[in-house]
Amino acid sequence: MSRSRPNILITGTPGTGKTTTSELVAQALGFRHINVGEWVRDKGLHSGWNEEFECFDLDEDKVCDAMEDLMAEGGNVVDHHGCDFFPERWFDLVVVLQANNTELFDRLQRRGYSEKKIRENVECEIMMVVLEEASESYRPEIVKPLTSDNTDDLERNVAIIVGWVQGMMAAGPR
Ligand code: ADP
Ligand code: MN
Repeated sequence: MSRSRPNILITGTPGTGKTTTSELVAQALGFRHINVGEWVRDKGLHSGWNEEFECFDLDEDKVCDAMEDLMAEGGNVVDHHGCDFFPERWFDLVVVLQANNTELFDRLQRRGYSEKKIRENVECEIMMVVLEEASESYRPEIVKPLTSDNTDDLERNVAIIVGWVQGMMAAGPR
């Protein structure tokens, strides 16, 4: 398969800044932003609400089917907190955003998350669950952790990611 433009995945624990970063990167590159969580909710790509984890039980097959044609085209910034169920071939770059515990705690509290859900997500961040998942699912050369603690980080990360993608496009089709 060859696509004219790369696909990037921006992953990380909820609250690390995936959506904010993805929007800016997509805007700068003229790429499509796919917020997987919104697709799951709005297109019904799930098997119901999970009371325990306070989220929809995402249907991996439905999500991948819904994304397949656009991913084959290329030019996508995919924004999701998980990364192990997408086909490995879809992505040319996998960015794992990270944030420090207190900052993450504050962001999730502002979002109105329950104490339990905040604690689970902060633990997930401390244990680097998403980085490990990305490292097990994709070639190490394309997995890039970036810190997103403040707005300086945000600006720098957007510039770095845009630079990487422009470099890939200059190198020709993948
Ligand atoms: P995610 O999509 O990973 O859950 P969001 O992009 O929604 O995270 O960001 C969560 C909150 O943190 C938002 O209120 C956003 O404005 C803020 N935020 C995101 N990135 C940063 C950053 N680098 N510095 C400060 N605040 C940030
Ligand atoms: Mn988000």
